[in-house]
Amino acid sequence: MPHLRGSLTERRPTRRIQVGDVPVGGGAPVTVQSMTTTKTADVEGTLSQIYALAAAGADLVRCTCNEEEAAEGLARIVPRSPVPIIADIHFHVEMALAALEAGVQGLRLNPGNLRKPHEIKLVAAEAKDRGVPIRIGVNAGSLHPDLYKKYGGATPEALVESARMELAYFAEVDFDDVKISVKASSVPLMIESYRLASETFDYPLHLGVTEAGPPPAGLLKGTAGIATLLAEGIGDTIRYSLTADPVEEARAGRQLLEALGLRERKGLDLIACPSCGRSEIDVIAVAQAAQDALEDRNLPIQVAVMGCVVNGPGEAREADLGIAAGRKRGHLFIKGKIVRVVPEDEMVEALVAEAERLVAEGVEARLAAADAGAEAEAEADRRELLDAKGSDANASESKVDLIRKRFGDVAAPAD
Ligand code: SF4
Repeated sequence: MPHLRGSLTERRPTRRIQVGDVPVGGGAPVTVQSMTTTKTADVEGTLSQIYALAAAGADLVRCTCNEEEAAEGLARIVPRSPVPIIADIHFHVEMALAALEAGVQGLRLNPGNLRKPHEIKLVAAEAKDRGVPIRIGVNAGSLHPDLYKKYGGATPEALVESARMELAYFAEVDFDDVKISVKASSVPLMIESYRLASETFDYPLHLGVTEAGPPPAGLLKGTAGIATLLAEGIGDTIRYSLTADPVEEARAGRQLLEALGLRERKGLDLIACPSCGRSEIDVIAVAQAAQDALEDRNLPIQVAVMGCVVNGPGEAREADLGIAAGRKRGHLFIKGKIVRVVPEDEMVEALVAEAERLVAEGVEARLAAADAGAEAEAEADRRELLDAKGSDANASESKVDLIRKRFGDVAAPAD
């Protein structure tokens, strides 16, 4: 059964594990992961990508460990990385052992292609001695052939059974420092598999839709799967798998968690109206210019770009800061209160300058510094536009009265 809950921040209880200094599960904040696309042997190239991923919001980064040179690279990368490093292992037990030797803070094993029980136990025993957790990374596309046959395909039951079998091998060497993933490229299969996994295990779950493809479809698929589960309280760490620069994965993961209220806002949240016939500017172009100008400044505020002064400041009154267009001017507002009116071609510049001051000085100080007369000037613009374009969008109440009257008239008993 889905675990619909009253609050998105209410999580399904799981055990807590520690990936380096990052806690996962057991009430810890949901974390973002991504994976490098460089050759792990290329230490400088990989480190520079890891730094970019961390800056974009990744709490944990995975690197492949597929050859001896990659393991050697990990030994040099781990001490210089800003975030814990997880080694991704397929097929080769010696790569898992070499990655542990390199000092990684986590391992990911694929039970579908690392199948020999004595090898699995060897890695688990070594990880236990070093205090390194392992993700049992089940993947519908590389499911153990026996399970594929037994269940007639990659079903949720087959994926969960694969994780259960791996756990049983781990238990033989008394190892349970584990998180689990049951990924699939099919969103419905992924969702059902994680729901079953969350009913079956109390280990932390790593969510992801695998091989989701390039954006925007890949982003949509990832979000459909990950957000659905997060909203049900399922999931302790997430990864978007995009055919794109991995920085996009990290950014998407962070933005999703912020949008769901599962992580505090770290960077800019730009909102903009979709634009309509009332718009006084090219909202798309102005929003893009504002995003470009503000993004690099990493200001942890919500900024609104609204196409008209008639509805903009009111509709975006929850935003920390915003600008709305009207009669060739921009109305700059803080928490819905107009603080300045600027020429239209200075809108973006004024927005950026105010954003910086707002972060430095705070809302109260910036409201106190509002231009005298800005409210009155803005109201005059607004009135003029209403008169010119009609107030239909703002006459809801009188329309409701008319509708009620009509129904009242119809319902009234005939004399
Ligand atoms: S803010 Fe103005 S321009 Fe934008 S969608 Fe609303 S009414 Fe239209």
